[in-house]
Amino acid sequence: MPGLLSSFVFFVLFVVHQPNATARVHSLNPRFATSFMTDPSNRIPAEAAAVVLAIHGGLACPRERLSADREESLRAAMQVALQKGFEVLQSGTAESVAAVLAAVEVMEDSPEFNAGRGSVFTQTGSIEMDAALMEGATRQAGAVAHVKRIRNPIRAAQAVLMQSPAVFLVGAEADQFAQQRGLPIEDPSYFFTDRRHAEFLAWKENPCSVLGEGSSPQDRQVNLEKSAAYSRGTVGAVARDRAGNLAAATSTGGVSLKIPGRVGDSGVLGAGTFADNRTCAVSCTGDGELFIRSSAAYSVSARMMFGGQGLRQAAQAAIDDIRALGGLGGLVAIDLVGNVALPYHGPGLFRGTIDERGVATVALYED
Ligand code: ASP
Repeated sequence: MPGLLSSFVFFVLFVVHQPNATARVHSLNPRFATSFMTDPSNRIPAEAAAVVLAIHGGLACPRERLSADREESLRAAMQVALQKGFEVLQSGTAESVAAVLAAVEVMEDSPEFNAGRGSVFTQTGSIEMDAALMEGATRQAGAVAHVKRIRNPIRAAQAVLMQSPAVFLVGAEADQFAQQRGLPIEDPSYFFTDRRHAEFLAWKENPCSVLGEGSSPQDRQVNLEKSAAYSRGTVGAVARDRAGNLAAATSTGGVSLKIPGRVGDSGVLGAGTFADNRTCAVSCTGDGELFIRSSAAYSVSARMMFGGQGLRQAAQAAIDDIRALGGLGGLVAIDLVGNVALPYHGPGLFRGTIDERGVATVALYED
């Protein structure tokens, strides 16, 4: 009897939240979905429309370091990314993967973000990028790391997903793979921007002024505080389409002045990027080592699936864990009915959402 009752509640919630609820029930397993679907804190308020796309442009630098001009450019670029993704979502019923790709590509092409053009430098002055894409319906995924020449690393991740038996390619071979599949390749100078180069020069001048060399817990704390002052700007997107399919994509130049060869969480499935139609889609930003060590993106899904938590509770818990490990971070997540969570621990999170009516919202700090 309780089983019958919860199935009924589950069905009613779907009808309330979804104009085409019956079209998407097939992609869910009610055994997993029931508990978090019935969590009242997880309901979309009656007056609000469900979110279909959420994006981030990375953890924010402290507010006093962000000029008005740059704030304007960031906001404008995020609006374009939201609109591009929304147009794709409007064009069909099963477009979540295409929508996250479109939104991330806009931000990779913009020099404002630490992804694609505008990526940060390593300690030897190279630019090394990571990206991942995952679709919730099939849990198919593609990722690349340590790529240096693909104009849009997220497209390389897509090529890995669609055109290879692998899920993760790295280094020169990943660049080569993308080139052989006809993706645009650039000279390393294409990714170069004055702002990121200035960070590199300042570090060369005085390494400890930017990041210390030590690896003790105290050194690490000092490094985290210093790194909080640096502009970051990893980009990511999560989407839910009319067929109920979820997708997540993340792309980054990594952390500023990283050791060459270092790979962060963005390209690591389950750490910085994850999607599963039964729960949620997640894209993360922040101290990548901690997101890898805590399997952060997957942990949001696991808390929902095995712990019965709602999206917001699960997403907040993942960020609380990053905080407990001594780091900074944020994420954007969307669940199967269009609830969205945008938690962060740090000065701010460049973030935006667009709902099913096309109403876009962009925020950078607490306001
Ligand atoms: N998470 C990224 C990395 O560790 C950096 C960031 O999001 O700021 O590579």
